Amino acid sequence: MTADIIEIFSSIQGEGIFLGAKQIFVRFKRCNLTCAYCDEDLDRKARRYSPLELMKEVKALEGAKGPHHSISLTGGEPLLYAEFLRSFLKILRKNRNFRSYLETNGTLPYELAKVIDLVDIVAMDFKLPSSTGERPFWTEHLEFLKIASKKKVFVKAIVTPNTVKNDVEKAIDLIKRMKKNIPFVLQPATPVGPHDKDVPKDALVGFLEIGLKHELANIRVIPQIHKILNMK
Ligand code: SF4
Repeated sequence: MTADIIEIFSSIQGEGIFLGAKQIFVRFKRCNLTCAYCDEDLDRKARRYSPLELMKEVKALEGAKGPHHSISLTGGEPLLYAEFLRSFLKILRKNRNFRSYLETNGTLPYELAKVIDLVDIVAMDFKLPSSTGERPFWTEHLEFLKIASKKKVFVKAIVTPNTVKNDVEKAIDLIKRMKKNIPFVLQPATPVGPHDKDVPKDALVGFLEIGLKHELANIRVIPQIHKILNMK
């Protein structure tokens, strides 16, 4: 059993509620979505790893640059490799000082169910259709969140100048249906092209106000800090 991995590196988590934590990042190739704002070059050359080979690399990086807060499994979409992940996470669990942090687009609940018992933290996205240009994934997100909420979980949604209020309201409603205190992070998309615009500040404040009016306990705006710090 193998997985295609683009890169393995040590850096600082730039998103969500674990912002600033030092992590080892394992970036899997391939994704099941094509979000309009995606800034990952998933066509980059990958190397094929077995779970044991990946563990060896992780241990070597921990030895050279550790200690780290956790191991971020990111992509692409890491759950496209659920069987591989299950095998790797079992090995990781035997190394007790490693915590696992799954960064996922939140659209593959059946794949999440295969690994949730072995994951420590789930950083899941809600893909707002007005932000991504993709179809809505509300049904998948709700199923996913039900499973993810067995562990420590937070939800993140990328907002762009195209994001509409109805999508933010729908996301808030889904979180409230699960648990009001699940943290919800609105992340303004970092402009990547010369014609990309910043998300207007009053729109961000307006989205926060919707959450507060709906009594969502923990909603906030957090930009990507690794971009601000010019880090990987
Ligand atoms: S889910 Fe993430 S990696 Fe996949 S296309 Fe969207 S932004 Fe890119």
